[in-house]
Amino acid sequence: MAKQNKNNNNPENICAFCGRPISMLNAYVPSMFQGVGVCDDCLREINKAMAKEHKRNDATKDESLELKTPQEIFDFLNQYVIGQERAKKILSVAVYNHYKRLNYIAKGKTTDDVELEKSNIIMIGETGTGKTLLARTIATLLNVPFCIADATTLTQAGYVGEDVENILTRLLQNADYDVQRAEKGIVFIDEIDKIARKGDNPSITRDVSGEGVQQSLLKILEGTVVNVPPEGGRKHPEQKFIQVDTRNILFIAAGAFDGIERNIASRMNSYAIGFMESLQRDNIDTEEFLKYAQPQDLKSFGLIPELIGRFPVLTSLDKLDAKAMKRILTEPKNAITKQYQKLFEMDNKDLRFNDDALDYFVQTALDYSLGARGLRGIMENVMNDLMFSLPTQKAKKTITITKQYAEQMLQGAGLVKNNK
Ligand code: ADP
Repeated sequence: MAKQNKNNNNPENICAFCGRPISMLNAYVPSMFQGVGVCDDCLREINKAMAKEHKRNDATKDESLELKTPQEIFDFLNQYVIGQERAKKILSVAVYNHYKRLNYIAKGKTTDDVELEKSNIIMIGETGTGKTLLARTIATLLNVPFCIADATTLTQAGYVGEDVENILTRLLQNADYDVQRAEKGIVFIDEIDKIARKGDNPSITRDVSGEGVQQSLLKILEGTVVNVPPEGGRKHPEQKFIQVDTRNILFIAAGAFDGIERNIASRMNSYAIGFMESLQRDNIDTEEFLKYAQPQDLKSFGLIPELIGRFPVLTSLDKLDAKAMKRILTEPKNAITKQYQKLFEMDNKDLRFNDDALDYFVQTALDYSLGARGLRGIMENVMNDLMFSLPTQKAKKTITITKQYAEQMLQGAGLVKNNK
């Protein structure tokens, strides 16, 4: 015993941190620091503590984000989003201004006499034209937390549905509960048009699904400290909250605003004779009018002025034609065809698509009014059989998808009629 004690007192035979003798250790690095050794358990703890410290330092260093110029934002968007030049340009400027203002404040400066407003953005455009993609791509470029909220699931406090604060729960979760990071994030509110006030609502009770929700949203949009339930769900008295300041969160709202072209047309006083007829036949070229959308058109659609006022930047997206859809299939950095080619390459196969097959995918998506969102589903149906047999197929290194093959697969899936 006396011998062991003597050994233990020898700094060369014990871990310099926990003091345990070598005999009790799994692993030991001798002479680590000035002749004394360290055990593996202590090294692990040191590493963990260091990682935490680095993270903390990074967070404080990250006070100001690396500012991208509007051109840089635009160029990055170009890699992922086809067309939509107008929206890309407006978004690039709005996002640049937002984060410029934020960095300015982070450096402890004030804008003195001029109060710079937040540049929250509202986008109008048919479903599947790239609204979510634009917002998500910006968040990726800036490396800020991002979340999507569906306005239709929200209700004003006290009613069945989600409280608006739950939007921020998702943002917090996506920021790993780092409040500072979440407070610089981007929140995308989809289907904002679905909470429009219904002018002819005969109900004498409050308009739960519409105006009430718009009112509830005002609070988080304008920038205040919100009590956010960390796990979401309804608020209850014993619940603990995390306080999130929404002043610097960028809100991007989007919606299809079905029929808004009528409001725009009537404002522009474009009811020329003959044109009126086509309006009534419901086949006016929506795109032509959407690009002239103004805040007052949102008001006549049923958004309350206070809400509109909190989205100073307004832009619209173009409808995607066949040409744009085909480009979406092949051009973006993560285009669907490129993704399949990568998957096949991993199995040592060279995948090619005939041009007429690509046209066929596009035409099918257009026939079903699925927009660009439908392209993936269509291709999944075409590619599934091949992907099933691929890993066991030894022969044939090059596989070409022809229109005929695509037709056959979609007929098999019951997606298109067999014309024979
Ligand atoms: P929404 O306008 O309804 O928000 P999304 O942005 O969610 O539409 O688009 C759905 C999918 O369609 C995207 O994930 C993307 O794959 C594709 N897509 C839509 N528009 C474009 C576009 N302009 N450029 C590239 N891909 C697009």
